[in-house]
Amino acid sequence: MITEIEAAQAGTITDAVRRVAASEGRDPGELSRSVAEGRVVIMKRGDVSLGIGDGLSTKVNANIGTSPACCNPEDEVEKARIAESLGAHTISDLSMGGDITLMRSRILAATALPLTTVPTYQAVAETGLEHLSDEDLFGNLRRQAEEGISSFVLHLVSGKLLDGVRRSPRIMGVVSKGGSMMAAHMVLRGCENPYLARFDELLDILHRHDIVLSLGNTMRSGCIHDARDRPQVMEMRENVALARRAHEAGVQVILEGVGGHVHPRRIPGYISDYKKKSGFPLFVAGPLPTDIAMGNDHIAGCVGAALASGAGADYLCYITPAEHMGLPTPAQVREGLAAFLIAAHIGDLIKYGRDDRDEALAIRRAALDWKGQAALALDHEKACIANPDGDPCTMCGSFCALRIMQEFCSGPDGRDTVERSR
Ligand code: SF4
Repeated sequence: MITEIEAAQAGTITDAVRRVAASEGRDPGELSRSVAEGRVVIMKRGDVSLGIGDGLSTKVNANIGTSPACCNPEDEVEKARIAESLGAHTISDLSMGGDITLMRSRILAATALPLTTVPTYQAVAETGLEHLSDEDLFGNLRRQAEEGISSFVLHLVSGKLLDGVRRSPRIMGVVSKGGSMMAAHMVLRGCENPYLARFDELLDILHRHDIVLSLGNTMRSGCIHDARDRPQVMEMRENVALARRAHEAGVQVILEGVGGHVHPRRIPGYISDYKKKSGFPLFVAGPLPTDIAMGNDHIAGCVGAALASGAGADYLCYITPAEHMGLPTPAQVREGLAAFLIAAHIGDLIKYGRDDRDEALAIRRAALDWKGQAALALDHEKACIANPDGDPCTMCGSFCALRIMQEFCSGPDGRDTVERSR
């Protein structure tokens, strides 16, 4: 198979690139050059093509999926539908409970969005950490690759990196689930990370299906105290080197970094540093700019994600109000996603300065056009629920400032109308 990178490097503008260019208002030739250089990836699923990276709008991913402690497939399908209807750009199925293959096929059937998985999860859930073999990991990878998955998150944490984190004065250690599983496997077997040891074979599987490789952020910080320590810097270097190898092999690649908990003063600097070190698209989980927002982590995450996106992050992974506490309900998925769609939009306002939609809504707000405002709101459904008939806002009643100004001060000379009203 010729991958998007190889086609772009050969000077071919693919249908997928044309579709992304049309939806983003970009020149297809220019976009194709960005794909050739690895600054943009095209995630595909059927006829759906999604561009992530330089010069494109910030994208948002919604994580769903069962856990061994909470397994309700109906809920996960509902979450997938909610995510798609509210405007998520991608879904990640992180299922580890019940029939994982069936769950994935139900999610694929319920939405048309590009789907990401962490194949390690299924291998571990079905085999157990103690008995996991390299062949379980690779067998699972090959089977999932045949199913039309758009992107894999893989944690390529090295033995050297694990030694580094053991010596670091972190409070939280490793908080990445996929990263901790790979670390346990390496310790139990006394081996190097099999994804690293067999990286060429891994790339071959991804290349065959043009699946985007997302290099997991094992060293993301579990609290703001732990952010930007030596293991994180080491991981960034190692992942950038792996990303270059993937790109050279024609495999599209995304870097995960600056995720987890990061002090708000440091978020923009860390993001710029990542983007300077390599031009690959940057995927950020959160980040949470404080550790103490439990119950409202989606709000804290929205602030961190807006800072991250404004500084250059290309792709955000949402956080729900259930973060640190449990598997989110469908309603919590909705809340988390709504918060991160706002963050992505604010990030784009900072990055690109374009505010056409904001201005269009402001014009309708000034005209007291409630339905027009709702149509342009990021969360159209919520804006409509608040006021289904498009009636005037009840906050100030007859003393609505906009109405007063329209009534008394909207003539050619506002002062005349004010005078007449006295
Ligand atoms: S009633 Fe008050 S809050 Fe509502 S639109 Fe008018 S000025 Fe704004």
